[in-house]
Amino acid sequence: MRNEIHEKIVIVEDDAGIVKFLKTTLTAAGYEPIIAETGEQALALISSHCPDCVLLDLGLPDMDGNTIIEQLRSWSRMPIVVISARTMEEDKARALDLGADDYLAKPFGKIELLARIRAALRHTRTAAEDDGIAVNGIYRTGELEIDYRKLRVYRAGKDINLTPNEFRIVALLGKHAGQVVTYKAIMRELWGPLAGKDNKILRVHMASIRRKLEPNPDEPVYIITEIGVGYRLTEDAP
Ligand code: CA
Repeated sequence: MRNEIHEKIVIVEDDAGIVKFLKTTLTAAGYEPIIAETGEQALALISSHCPDCVLLDLGLPDMDGNTIIEQLRSWSRMPIVVISARTMEEDKARALDLGADDYLAKPFGKIELLARIRAALRHTRTAAEDDGIAVNGIYRTGELEIDYRKLRVYRAGKDINLTPNEFRIVALLGKHAGQVVTYKAIMRELWGPLAGKDNKILRVHMASIRRKLEPNPDEPVYIITEIGVGYRLTEDAP
């Protein structure tokens, strides 16, 4: 059993069935869930408890969950994982671009839920340690190794020779490993705030990255496409 202090997670959800599932799952995993059924309740509970993470439904009885993301981001970097039945790609991208850390489409299972929460929690921790990857400068998943000091990426010990822009894309995904990074966020990182809206150049870069990095570029195992939203570097690569 874990014996550290239980991490608090505020669940913002108005569906009683889902609340029950989340509460049971999170408690069993050693977290301390706190329930809010409306947006107003959520904002009050979040400011009084300062939780380690927020699980947020977008369709709330009294407000749009995106409003909560905007309000929280005006004063806090606490991880927000959106859980929503809205499956439109624009909805996902909007929540992420407003500052949500990740997005889980309903229905989802326990394993996926817990993995996303762990990734969100770890990311705040490493961000707090000034990009924890920098502790040894290396991020590893499966046979992949991103070396942030040498600005190199290796697979099975072999340098895959990324171009500088390709490296920047992979480096960014590595800093958010396990989380989806939107096209917009990647383009902003690469080309600044004036980046265009067209993802075409990004897709071209990604095709080249995958040819170098994936064992089989047609069936990527390291960089997964979240269609219409962005890319996710898997943490549990084989
Ligand atoms: Ca709802």
